[in-house]
Amino acid sequence: MQVALDDYAWAAGVATGLVNTTAEVWRGDDRLPDTAALVAFADLHGGRSARPGTGEALAGLARRAGAAELYAVRELRGPVRELIDRPRRGRLITGATALTGSGRGAALVGDPAHPGRTGWAVGLREGAGIAEALSLVCGVGILGTVRALGEERFRPCGAPACRGAFIDTTRPGRRRYCMPGLCGNRANVADHRARKARPS
Ligand SMILES: [Zn+2]
Repeated sequence: MQVALDDYAWAAGVATGLVNTTAEVWRGDDRLPDTAALVAFADLHGGRSARPGTGEALAGLARRAGAAELYAVRELRGPVRELIDRPRRGRLITGATALTGSGRGAALVGDPAHPGRTGWAVGLREGAGIAEALSLVCGVGILGTVRALGEERFRPCGAPACRGAFIDTTRPGRRRYCMPGLCGNRANVADHRARKARPS
């Protein structure tokens, strides 16, 4: 499996999705309770990669995961969340570089979307499992975002009472919610109720 450095926005999206599966975000309900949930997570996020092969490789690794791998993936969420929560540039670079420790060096590879063009990619070490693959993806996502967009793109969710966090890779950089479809709607409903409750 290879993670292209140009694919950092996708990789950062995987990191955001991963940290927002925790029981802390879902009020006691861990969204990665078993390996079936891990497979569903890998299918969902793998399918969003623009790079042919990366998503399939991620999904394949998830299907081979046992209890120990699932545990390692769940444990990975803590250090990734720590980086998003305290986004100082040096810390982000050191922490995310450590996350890419499961990679085996950078290589120039062809860009499937642009024939004749090449880009940097980091390969996953031989024999690595889904936890190491996700660690590499998160590391690349964080490093790519720091380089291209800056450390102010690491933020807590703006919805009241939501404990989620996200990496904003949108062009204008005005994303407000960890899960825009869900937290954005919740925030709108709360605003609406507050307006209605106010005496006019
Ligand atoms: Zn949220």
